[in-house]
Amino acid sequence: MGKVHGFWLFAAGVAAVGLGVPSLEAQKPTFRLEREVNACTNPPEDLVHPDKYAVCKDDKWRPVIVNLHDGTTTLMKQPKEYEGMPVTTEVADPASRNAVMMSGAYRSYSRYEVLWTNGASAGVQVTGYAYAKPDTPPRHARCGGEMKVHEKLQQYFCPACNVLVSHHDSLKVTHINQWAVVDLATGKARVTDLPDGWLFKVGNDFTGGVFWFARLEPCAPSCQATQKLTLFSFNTATGAKVTEFQVDVPYREKGPGYRSAVSASGKTIVLVEYDERQDKTRGFLSNPGVSALVVDVAAKSVRRMDALLTTYGFALDEKHDRLFMASNQTAKLVVRKLSTGALIKEWSIPGGMAHLSLSADASKLYLFTKGEFQVVETVKYTTVVKAPVKTLYPGVDKWMTADRVITTSDGLRAITPAMIRAELGPWGVPDPKSGFKVFLLP
Ligand SMILES: [Zn+2]
Repeated sequence: MGKVHGFWLFAAGVAAVGLGVPSLEAQKPTFRLEREVNACTNPPEDLVHPDKYAVCKDDKWRPVIVNLHDGTTTLMKQPKEYEGMPVTTEVADPASRNAVMMSGAYRSYSRYEVLWTNGASAGVQVTGYAYAKPDTPPRHARCGGEMKVHEKLQQYFCPACNVLVSHHDSLKVTHINQWAVVDLATGKARVTDLPDGWLFKVGNDFTGGVFWFARLEPCAPSCQATQKLTLFSFNTATGAKVTEFQVDVPYREKGPGYRSAVSASGKTIVLVEYDERQDKTRGFLSNPGVSALVVDVAAKSVRRMDALLTTYGFALDEKHDRLFMASNQTAKLVVRKLSTGALIKEWSIPGGMAHLSLSADASKLYLFTKGEFQVVETVKYTTVVKAPVKTLYPGVDKWMTADRVITTSDGLRAITPAMIRAELGPWGVPDPKSGFKVFLLP
């Protein structure tokens, strides 16, 4: 367990928090605070590099690239300010905006999200809407009557109701996505189109150099038991499409609320549905119940297995054919065979779990509960290290946002929001003055 080497070498300004336990105990490996990053106010949300970089946002929502190894930071511009980046169509006044919308040339961009970086460039998903005049005159939702274009305003109105109708309720509106690669040295962005529609972020395959997106294909009004899910992968450095295929997934009226992960090799994708308790024993989902969907990328196939209510934590171990899943509400920890779904082991961890990750060799499972962090060895599945949350966050007994933990692919570090004691009690609330903390895992 030599992973804590270098602990004493951290640069000045880095706070190191020990466990504050007797010296015999102090020799046991434990979670150690490596770094507090204050360059941003919004902690990282996605794993953008396998081990070296994290991206958070400052109080003006500018991305900040943080080198986790040495703590150096690179403040990016507002993404839309980079040369070549898609931006909302500029118009002189509302009437000309309407005319541009009718012409099909209007785009509005609302989101720029850094999903990948190598330190020299950054991959940004850009999302927005495109507007166009529908092929046939639209009908008014309220009365069913045909709408007409108001010549002077260049906007649809309903003659029967004598009202103007919003663009969203009259024009053809398409959710559009692009991938922009920003060269941080030149400040230029190269942009390629991603598929239209609402894309769900699956995650990076750092081995294959691609980012995976998924799109649930609409099936209404005749949805059956299953729905098509299209999976797409794009080269993160160029935006070129690499893979596209569809799998059948359980149809869920309110949406599946997937959480997702891509395996280290890039060969397996796991999507886990969200379900929660509706009474003491059951969730809301049935036929099938809450599901984990294991996608074999090469075979373009999917295997369904039972997941848990509020499966906030899960981790893949391809080498030993295992999928670990953990529930926040029921406190169950389950190990299944990745290849068959067969149950290997199931037990409980008091407090309920919010995040799981594995060491690089999968010999250790890191477990984040509301009250403590644990290490479980993965041969006999026994807890070998326990660190109460309060030893890492002074004054905080319970940690409410543990589902915001990110762990690096090398299994060495965990990134968590900065938490301080709430005024009303010994639980944690986000520290508004600080970005995030980096822990070295035992
Ligand atoms: Zn009407």
